[in-house]
Amino acid sequence: MLKSIRLLVLPLVAALLLAGGLQAQDAPAAPAEVAPVALPNVIDVRVSATPERARLIIDLAAKTEFALVSLSEPDRIAIDVRAATFSVPEPSGKPAGEGNMISDYLVEQAAPDRVRTMLTLSAPAQVQQAYVLDPFEGQPARLVVDVIPATAEEFAANVARDAAASGTATPPVTADSTPAGGSELPIATRPLVVIDPGHGGIDSGAETADGIKEKDIVLSFALKLQELLVSSGRFDVALTREDDTFLRLEERVALARTNKADLFISLHADSFQQPEIRGASVYTRDENATDVLDKVLADNENKTDIIAGFAMPQMAPEVVDILLDLMRREMRHQSFVAAQAIVHQLEPSVELRRFPVRQADFLVLQAPDVPSVLLELGFLSNADDMANLLQGEWQDRTADALARGISSYFDSMVPDE
Ligand SMILES: [Zn+2]
Repeated sequence: MLKSIRLLVLPLVAALLLAGGLQAQDAPAAPAEVAPVALPNVIDVRVSATPERARLIIDLAAKTEFALVSLSEPDRIAIDVRAATFSVPEPSGKPAGEGNMISDYLVEQAAPDRVRTMLTLSAPAQVQQAYVLDPFEGQPARLVVDVIPATAEEFAANVARDAAASGTATPPVTADSTPAGGSELPIATRPLVVIDPGHGGIDSGAETADGIKEKDIVLSFALKLQELLVSSGRFDVALTREDDTFLRLEERVALARTNKADLFISLHADSFQQPEIRGASVYTRDENATDVLDKVLADNENKTDIIAGFAMPQMAPEVVDILLDLMRREMRHQSFVAAQAIVHQLEPSVELRRFPVRQADFLVLQAPDVPSVLLELGFLSNADDMANLLQGEWQDRTADALARGISSYFDSMVPDE
Protein backbone atom coordinates (compact mmCIF):
# COMPACT_ATOMS: atom_id res chain seq x y z
CA MET A 1 0.00 0.00 0.00
CA LEU A 2 2.98 2.29 0.46
CA LYS A 3 4.26 1.65 -3.03
CA SER A 4 2.37 4.57 -4.50
CA ILE A 5 3.71 6.55 -7.41
CA ARG A 6 6.94 8.17 -6.37
CA LEU A 7 7.01 11.90 -6.92
CA LEU A 8 10.52 13.22 -6.88
CA VAL A 9 10.32 16.21 -4.59
CA LEU A 10 13.48 18.23 -4.65
CA PRO A 11 14.03 20.77 -1.91
CA LEU A 12 17.47 22.23 -1.34
CA VAL A 13 18.53 19.39 0.88
CA ALA A 14 17.99 16.91 -1.97
CA ALA A 15 20.46 18.48 -4.37
CA LEU A 16 22.97 15.74 -3.69
CA LEU A 17 20.31 13.16 -4.34
CA LEU A 18 19.56 14.58 -7.77
CA ALA A 19 23.23 14.42 -8.66
CA GLY A 20 23.28 10.78 -7.61
CA GLY A 21 20.16 9.96 -9.61
CA LEU A 22 21.48 11.50 -12.80
CA GLN A 23 24.78 9.77 -12.51
CA ALA A 24 22.81 6.58 -12.10
CA GLN A 25 21.56 6.67 -15.70
CA ASP A 26 25.00 6.73 -17.30
CA ALA A 27 26.84 3.95 -15.50
CA PRO A 28 28.37 1.26 -17.75
CA ALA A 29 27.36 -2.40 -17.58
CA ALA A 30 29.53 -4.76 -15.54
CA PRO A 31 32.34 -6.35 -17.57
CA ALA A 32 32.05 -10.02 -18.55
CA GLU A 33 34.12 -12.50 -16.58
CA VAL A 34 37.15 -14.20 -18.08
CA ALA A 35 37.20 -18.01 -18.19
CA PRO A 36 39.93 -19.72 -16.16
CA VAL A 37 42.67 -21.64 -18.00
CA ALA A 38 43.05 -24.84 -15.93
CA LEU A 39 40.16 -26.92 -14.60
CA PRO A 40 39.87 -26.96 -10.82
CA ASN A 41 38.58 -29.82 -8.68
CA VAL A 42 35.41 -29.90 -6.64
CA ILE A 43 36.51 -30.33 -3.02
CA ASP A 44 33.26 -30.28 -1.07
CA VAL A 45 29.51 -30.17 -1.61
CA ARG A 46 27.02 -29.24 1.08
CA VAL A 47 23.26 -28.77 1.00
CA SER A 48 21.28 -27.10 3.75
CA ALA A 49 17.58 -26.39 3.74
CA THR A 50 14.70 -24.67 5.47
CA PRO A 51 11.10 -24.93 4.29
CA GLU A 52 11.50 -21.58 2.50
CA ARG A 53 14.89 -22.05 0.90
CA ALA A 54 17.69 -24.50 0.22
CA ARG A 55 21.31 -23.58 -0.31
CA LEU A 56 23.88 -25.64 -2.16
CA ILE A 57 27.53 -24.76 -1.62
CA ILE A 58 30.16 -26.30 -3.88
CA ASP A 59 33.72 -25.70 -2.71
CA LEU A 60 36.17 -25.39 -5.59
CA ALA A 61 39.95 -25.43 -5.81
CA ALA A 62 39.56 -22.31 -7.96
CA LYS A 63 36.79 -20.24 -9.53
CA THR A 64 35.12 -21.89 -12.52
CA GLU A 65 32.07 -21.70 -14.76
CA PHE A 66 28.76 -23.37 -14.04
CA ALA A 67 25.41 -24.24 -15.57
CA LEU A 68 21.96 -24.96 -14.19
CA VAL A 69 19.20 -27.09 -15.66
CA SER A 70 15.76 -28.21 -14.46
CA LEU A 71 14.77 -31.79 -15.33
CA SER A 72 11.50 -33.72 -14.92
CA GLU A 73 10.56 -37.36 -14.24
CA PRO A 74 11.79 -37.34 -11.58
CA ASP A 75 11.91 -33.62 -10.85
CA ARG A 76 15.50 -32.50 -10.40
CA ILE A 77 17.80 -29.54 -10.68
CA ALA A 78 21.27 -30.29 -12.06
CA ILE A 79 24.16 -27.98 -11.27
CA ASP A 80 27.20 -28.53 -13.45
CA VAL A 81 30.56 -26.95 -12.81
CA ARG A 82 33.43 -27.02 -15.26
CA ALA A 83 35.88 -29.08 -13.21
CA ALA A 84 38.42 -31.87 -13.68
CA THR A 85 37.16 -34.19 -10.97
CA PHE A 86 35.70 -34.27 -7.48
CA SER A 87 36.87 -35.50 -4.13
CA VAL A 88 34.24 -34.67 -1.55
CA PRO A 89 33.62 -36.14 1.92
CA GLU A 90 29.96 -36.94 1.19
CA PRO A 91 29.19 -37.33 -2.52
CA SER A 92 25.57 -38.13 -1.77
CA GLY A 93 23.17 -37.46 1.06
CA LYS A 94 20.25 -35.51 2.36
CA PRO A 95 20.20 -31.78 3.10
CA ALA A 96 21.03 -30.62 6.59
CA GLY A 97 18.11 -28.85 8.24
CA GLU A 98 14.40 -29.09 7.68
CA GLY A 99 14.01 -29.05 3.94
CA ASN A 100 10.84 -29.88 2.11
CA MET A 101 11.97 -29.17 -1.44
CA ILE A 102 15.11 -31.27 -1.79
CA SER A 103 14.99 -34.93 -0.82
CA ASP A 104 18.61 -35.76 -1.63
CA TYR A 105 21.68 -34.81 -3.64
CA LEU A 106 24.25 -36.74 -5.63
CA VAL A 107 27.63 -35.64 -6.97
CA GLU A 108 28.86 -37.35 -10.13
CA GLN A 109 31.30 -36.96 -13.00
CA ALA A 110 29.05 -35.99 -15.92
CA ALA A 111 31.86 -35.56 -18.45
CA PRO A 112 35.67 -35.35 -18.30
CA ASP A 113 35.41 -31.59 -17.79
CA ARG A 114 32.16 -31.47 -15.86
CA VAL A 115 31.13 -32.37 -12.30
CA ARG A 116 27.40 -32.50 -11.69
CA THR A 117 25.48 -32.09 -8.47
CA MET A 118 21.97 -33.44 -8.90
CA LEU A 119 19.30 -32.21 -6.51
CA THR A 120 16.23 -34.45 -6.39
CA LEU A 121 13.14 -32.40 -5.62
CA SER A 122 10.24 -33.44 -3.45
CA ALA A 123 8.29 -30.32 -4.46
CA PRO A 124 8.54 -27.89 -7.39
CA ALA A 125 11.45 -25.52 -6.92
CA GLN A 126 13.60 -23.10 -8.86
CA VAL A 127 16.99 -21.48 -8.60
CA GLN A 128 16.62 -18.03 -7.14
CA GLN A 129 20.23 -17.06 -7.63
CA ALA A 130 23.65 -18.60 -8.20
CA TYR A 131 27.06 -17.02 -7.98
CA VAL A 132 30.74 -17.89 -7.60
CA LEU A 133 32.77 -16.43 -4.77
CA ASP A 134 36.51 -15.85 -4.65
CA PRO A 135 38.52 -17.64 -1.96
CA PHE A 136 38.79 -15.65 1.24
CA GLU A 137 40.20 -16.02 4.75
CA GLY A 138 41.40 -19.57 4.24
CA GLN A 139 38.14 -20.69 2.61
CA PRO A 140 38.17 -21.94 -0.97
CA ALA A 141 36.36 -20.52 -3.98
CA ARG A 142 32.69 -21.49 -3.90
CA LEU A 143 29.60 -21.75 -6.01
CA VAL A 144 26.51 -20.79 -4.02
CA VAL A 145 23.10 -21.82 -5.38
CA ASP A 146 19.90 -20.75 -3.63
CA VAL A 147 16.77 -22.74 -4.42
CA ILE A 148 13.26 -21.56 -3.53
CA PRO A 149 9.79 -23.11 -3.91
CA ALA A 150 8.06 -22.71 -7.28
CA THR A 151 4.65 -23.57 -8.64
CA ALA A 152 4.28 -26.71 -10.76
CA GLU A 153 3.73 -24.43 -13.77
CA GLU A 154 6.93 -22.50 -13.11
CA PHE A 155 8.92 -25.68 -12.76
CA ALA A 156 7.43 -27.14 -15.96
CA ALA A 157 8.26 -23.90 -17.79
CA ASN A 158 11.86 -24.07 -16.57
CA VAL A 159 12.17 -27.69 -17.73
CA ALA A 160 10.79 -26.78 -21.16
CA ARG A 161 13.06 -23.76 -21.43
CA ASP A 162 16.17 -25.73 -20.48
CA ALA A 163 15.27 -28.59 -22.83
CA ALA A 164 14.80 -26.12 -25.68
CA ALA A 165 18.08 -24.41 -24.86
CA SER A 166 20.23 -27.53 -24.79
CA GLY A 167 18.29 -30.39 -26.35
CA THR A 168 20.51 -32.80 -24.39
CA ALA A 169 21.47 -33.62 -20.85
CA THR A 170 24.55 -31.45 -21.33
CA PRO A 171 23.41 -27.90 -20.73
CA PRO A 172 25.41 -24.95 -22.02
CA VAL A 173 27.90 -23.73 -19.48
CA THR A 174 27.68 -20.07 -18.66
CA ALA A 175 29.76 -17.82 -16.49
CA ASP A 176 26.72 -16.54 -14.69
CA SER A 177 23.17 -17.59 -14.09
CA THR A 178 19.88 -16.11 -15.13
CA PRO A 179 17.78 -16.22 -12.00
CA ALA A 180 14.41 -17.76 -12.70
CA GLY A 181 11.17 -16.18 -11.64
CA GLY A 182 10.67 -12.72 -10.20
CA SER A 183 13.56 -10.86 -11.73
CA GLU A 184 12.33 -11.63 -15.24
CA LEU A 185 9.10 -9.79 -14.58
CA PRO A 186 8.92 -6.32 -16.05
CA ILE A 187 9.66 -3.73 -13.42
CA ALA A 188 7.35 -0.78 -13.76
CA THR A 189 9.29 1.71 -11.66
CA ARG A 190 12.75 1.24 -10.28
CA PRO A 191 12.98 1.22 -6.51
CA LEU A 192 15.02 4.05 -5.02
CA VAL A 193 17.80 2.96 -2.68
CA VAL A 194 19.34 5.72 -0.58
CA ILE A 195 22.84 4.90 0.63
CA ASP A 196 23.98 6.89 3.62
CA PRO A 197 27.74 6.90 4.23
CA GLY A 198 27.99 7.66 7.95
CA HIS A 199 29.67 10.75 9.41
CA GLY A 200 31.54 13.24 7.19
CA GLY A 201 33.12 16.68 7.41
CA ILE A 202 34.00 17.65 10.98
CA ASP A 203 32.61 14.30 12.15
CA SER A 204 35.21 11.66 11.27
CA GLY A 205 33.45 8.82 13.04
CA ALA A 206 35.81 6.19 14.41
CA GLU A 207 39.50 6.79 13.86
CA THR A 208 42.57 4.61 14.30
CA ALA A 209 45.85 5.67 15.90
CA ASP A 210 47.39 6.09 12.46
CA GLY A 211 44.62 8.38 11.26
CA ILE A 212 42.36 6.05 9.27
CA LYS A 213 38.87 7.49 9.45
CA GLU A 214 35.51 5.76 9.34
CA LYS A 215 34.01 8.56 7.25
CA ASP A 216 36.45 7.87 4.39
CA ILE A 217 36.07 4.09 4.50
CA VAL A 218 32.28 4.18 4.38
CA LEU A 219 32.23 6.80 1.61
CA SER A 220 34.41 4.76 -0.74
CA PHE A 221 32.35 1.67 0.08
CA ALA A 222 29.12 3.56 -0.61
CA LEU A 223 30.40 4.63 -4.03
CA LYS A 224 31.24 1.02 -4.85
CA LEU A 225 27.82 -0.16 -3.77
CA GLN A 226 26.14 2.59 -5.77
CA GLU A 227 27.99 1.53 -8.91
CA LEU A 228 26.97 -2.11 -8.45
CA LEU A 229 23.32 -1.35 -7.83
CA VAL A 230 23.11 1.07 -10.72
CA SER A 231 24.81 -1.29 -13.17
CA SER A 232 22.25 -3.96 -12.27
CA GLY A 233 19.74 -1.73 -14.06
CA ARG A 234 17.24 -2.47 -11.37
CA PHE A 235 17.56 0.44 -8.98
CA ASP A 236 17.77 4.16 -8.78
CA VAL A 237 20.43 4.97 -6.25
CA ALA A 238 21.19 8.13 -4.34
CA LEU A 239 23.80 8.98 -1.75
CA THR A 240 23.17 11.30 1.18
CA ARG A 241 26.71 12.56 0.67
CA GLU A 242 29.16 12.00 -2.18
CA ASP A 243 32.06 13.82 -0.62
CA ASP A 244 33.44 14.77 2.76
CA THR A 245 30.39 16.76 3.85
CA PHE A 246 28.88 17.00 7.30
CA LEU A 247 25.18 16.11 7.46
CA ARG A 248 22.94 16.05 10.50
CA LEU A 249 21.10 12.79 11.13
CA GLU A 250 17.77 14.47 10.45
CA GLU A 251 19.02 15.65 7.08
CA ARG A 252 19.93 12.09 6.12
CA VAL A 253 16.50 10.85 7.15
CA ALA A 254 14.81 13.78 5.40
CA LEU A 255 16.58 12.97 2.13
CA ALA A 256 15.22 9.46 2.15
CA ARG A 257 11.73 10.50 3.18
CA THR A 258 11.34 13.48 0.88
CA ASN A 259 12.22 11.34 -2.11
CA LYS A 260 10.12 8.43 -0.92
CA ALA A 261 13.02 6.01 -0.87
CA ASP A 262 12.21 2.31 -0.93
CA LEU A 263 15.21 1.42 1.20
CA PHE A 264 17.58 3.45 3.31
CA ILE A 265 20.91 1.91 4.19
CA SER A 266 23.36 3.64 6.48
CA LEU A 267 26.99 2.46 6.33
CA HIS A 268 29.36 2.49 9.29
CA ALA A 269 32.59 0.97 10.56
CA ASP A 270 32.66 2.11 14.16
CA SER A 271 34.94 1.33 17.07
CA PHE A 272 34.07 -0.93 19.94
CA GLN A 273 35.44 -0.88 23.48
CA GLN A 274 36.44 -4.54 23.26
CA PRO A 275 38.97 -4.86 20.44
CA GLU A 276 38.25 -8.59 20.05
CA ILE A 277 34.73 -7.87 18.77
CA ARG A 278 34.72 -8.15 15.00
CA GLY A 279 32.61 -8.86 11.97
CA ALA A 280 29.75 -7.29 10.07
CA SER A 281 26.27 -6.79 11.48
CA VAL A 282 23.02 -5.21 10.34
CA TYR A 283 20.89 -3.11 12.66
CA THR A 284 17.25 -2.17 12.59
CA ARG A 285 15.72 0.28 14.98
CA ASP A 286 14.85 -1.10 18.40
CA GLU A 287 11.15 -1.87 18.70
CA ASN A 288 11.23 -0.98 22.39
CA ALA A 289 13.41 2.06 22.20
CA THR A 290 12.09 5.49 23.02
CA ASP A 291 10.38 6.62 19.89
CA VAL A 292 11.99 9.87 18.88
CA LEU A 293 9.34 10.22 16.27
CA ASP A 294 6.70 10.70 18.94
CA LYS A 295 8.27 14.04 19.77
CA VAL A 296 8.23 14.99 16.13
CA LEU A 297 4.61 14.00 15.97
CA ALA A 298 3.65 16.67 18.48
CA ASP A 299 4.14 19.01 15.60
CA ASN A 300 1.01 18.91 13.48
CA GLU A 301 2.80 20.08 10.39
CA ASN A 302 5.17 17.16 10.54
CA LYS A 303 2.27 14.87 11.14
CA THR A 304 0.66 15.96 7.89
CA ASP A 305 4.01 15.70 6.19
CA ILE A 306 4.45 12.14 7.33
CA ILE A 307 1.22 10.97 5.83
CA ALA A 308 1.47 13.02 2.66
CA GLY A 309 0.78 10.85 -0.34
CA PHE A 310 -0.51 8.12 1.91
CA ALA A 311 -3.58 9.34 3.75
CA MET A 312 -6.19 12.04 3.30
CA PRO A 313 -5.15 15.28 5.02
CA GLN A 314 -8.60 15.95 6.55
CA MET A 315 -8.60 12.86 8.73
CA ALA A 316 -9.32 13.05 12.42
CA PRO A 317 -6.12 13.11 14.54
CA GLU A 318 -6.85 9.74 16.13
CA VAL A 319 -7.15 8.13 12.70
CA VAL A 320 -3.86 9.69 11.72
CA ASP A 321 -2.27 8.23 14.83
CA ILE A 322 -3.56 4.76 14.03
CA LEU A 323 -2.35 4.97 10.46
CA LEU A 324 1.03 6.20 11.59
CA ASP A 325 1.30 3.35 14.02
CA LEU A 326 0.43 0.83 11.31
CA MET A 327 2.93 2.45 8.98
CA ARG A 328 5.69 2.31 11.56
CA ARG A 329 5.02 -1.34 12.29
CA GLU A 330 5.05 -2.15 8.61
CA MET A 331 8.32 -0.27 8.10
CA ARG A 332 9.92 -2.00 11.06
CA HIS A 333 8.86 -5.33 9.69
CA GLN A 334 10.22 -4.49 6.24
CA SER A 335 13.45 -3.19 7.77
CA PHE A 336 13.86 -6.49 9.58
CA VAL A 337 13.21 -8.45 6.38
CA ALA A 338 15.82 -6.32 4.61
CA ALA A 339 18.35 -6.90 7.41
CA GLN A 340 17.80 -10.65 7.19
CA ALA A 341 18.14 -10.67 3.41
CA ILE A 342 21.40 -8.73 3.63
CA VAL A 343 22.83 -10.98 6.34
CA HIS A 344 21.83 -14.05 4.35
CA GLN A 345 23.89 -12.83 1.41
CA LEU A 346 26.84 -11.63 3.49
CA GLU A 347 27.05 -14.90 5.40
CA PRO A 348 28.89 -17.09 2.86
CA SER A 349 31.53 -14.50 2.01
CA VAL A 350 32.01 -12.10 4.90
CA GLU A 351 32.94 -12.53 8.56
CA LEU A 352 29.83 -11.77 10.63
CA ARG A 353 29.26 -11.00 14.29
CA ARG A 354 27.42 -13.55 16.34
CA PHE A 355 23.68 -12.79 15.97
CA PRO A 356 24.36 -10.47 13.04
CA VAL A 357 20.81 -9.05 12.83
CA ARG A 358 20.68 -6.59 15.70
CA GLN A 359 18.50 -3.85 17.09
CA ALA A 360 19.49 -0.52 18.54
CA ASP A 361 18.08 2.95 18.84
CA PHE A 362 19.86 4.55 15.90
CA LEU A 363 18.27 7.92 15.20
CA VAL A 364 19.19 7.70 11.55
CA LEU A 365 16.76 4.77 11.24
CA GLN A 366 13.76 6.72 12.46
CA ALA A 367 11.90 7.32 9.17
CA PRO A 368 8.36 5.98 9.69
CA ASP A 369 7.79 5.47 5.99
CA VAL A 370 11.12 4.13 4.68
CA PRO A 371 12.50 0.68 5.54
CA SER A 372 15.86 1.52 7.12
CA VAL A 373 18.88 -0.53 8.12
CA LEU A 374 22.33 0.30 9.38
CA LEU A 375 25.25 -1.87 8.31
CA GLU A 376 28.32 -2.02 10.47
CA LEU A 377 30.85 -3.29 7.94
CA GLY A 378 33.25 -4.19 10.71
CA PHE A 379 35.09 -2.47 13.54
CA LEU A 380 38.05 -0.16 13.25
CA SER A 381 38.93 -1.27 16.77
CA ASN A 382 39.68 -4.80 15.56
CA ALA A 383 42.92 -5.40 13.66
CA ASP A 384 41.50 -8.11 11.37
CA ASP A 385 38.46 -6.03 10.47
CA MET A 386 40.70 -3.05 9.88
CA ALA A 387 42.86 -4.98 7.45
CA ASN A 388 39.74 -6.15 5.60
CA LEU A 389 38.16 -2.72 5.46
CA LEU A 390 41.24 -1.31 3.74
CA GLN A 391 41.53 -4.16 1.26
CA GLY A 392 40.04 -3.66 -2.21
CA GLU A 393 39.24 -7.32 -2.72
CA TRP A 394 37.32 -7.51 0.56
CA GLN A 395 35.44 -4.31 -0.25
CA ASP A 396 34.43 -5.67 -3.67
CA ARG A 397 33.29 -8.99 -2.27
CA THR A 398 31.31 -7.35 0.51
CA ALA A 399 29.72 -4.78 -1.81
CA ASP A 400 28.73 -7.64 -4.15
CA ALA A 401 27.12 -9.57 -1.32
CA LEU A 402 25.35 -6.46 -0.06
CA ALA A 403 24.00 -5.69 -3.53
CA ARG A 404 22.68 -9.25 -3.73
CA GLY A 405 21.08 -8.86 -0.32
CA ILE A 406 19.34 -5.67 -1.41
CA SER A 407 18.12 -7.38 -4.59
CA SER A 408 16.77 -10.36 -2.74
CA TYR A 409 14.98 -8.07 -0.28
CA PHE A 410 13.18 -6.43 -3.19
CA ASP A 411 12.46 -9.87 -4.68
CA SER A 412 10.73 -10.79 -1.45
CA MET A 413 8.69 -7.59 -1.55
CA VAL A 414 7.14 -8.43 -4.95
CA PRO A 415 3.45 -8.93 -4.12
CA ASP A 416 1.99 -12.41 -4.66
CA GLU A 417 -0.23 -12.80 -7.70
ZN1 LIG B 1 29.76 5.25 12.47
